[in-house]
Amino acid sequence: MSATGVHVDTDLCEGHALCIQLAPEVFDLSDDDVASAARTGGQWDQDTWENVKSAVDACPRQAISLLPTSTKGQ
Ligand code: SF4
Repeated sequence: MSATGVHVDTDLCEGHALCIQLAPEVFDLSDDDVASAARTGGQWDQDTWENVKSAVDACPRQAISLLPTSTKGQ
């Protein structure tokens, strides 16, 4: 599977910060206690991608989704 980045659904996110613990180079927590994600996935190395996938699996709200390479024009 290949992806270009990662998206956090801010409506679902409850700010548990598990994703930030697993991939601090990708996720951050806003002042509103909602996670956000960097969108530079094409430049992440393999280890970072593994951390991102771990965060996707660990998120208790299933708020994190990978953006497929076919997503264009958005
Ligand atoms: S683990 Fe999920 S719910 Fe928790 S901060 Fe990250 S995206 Fe939000």
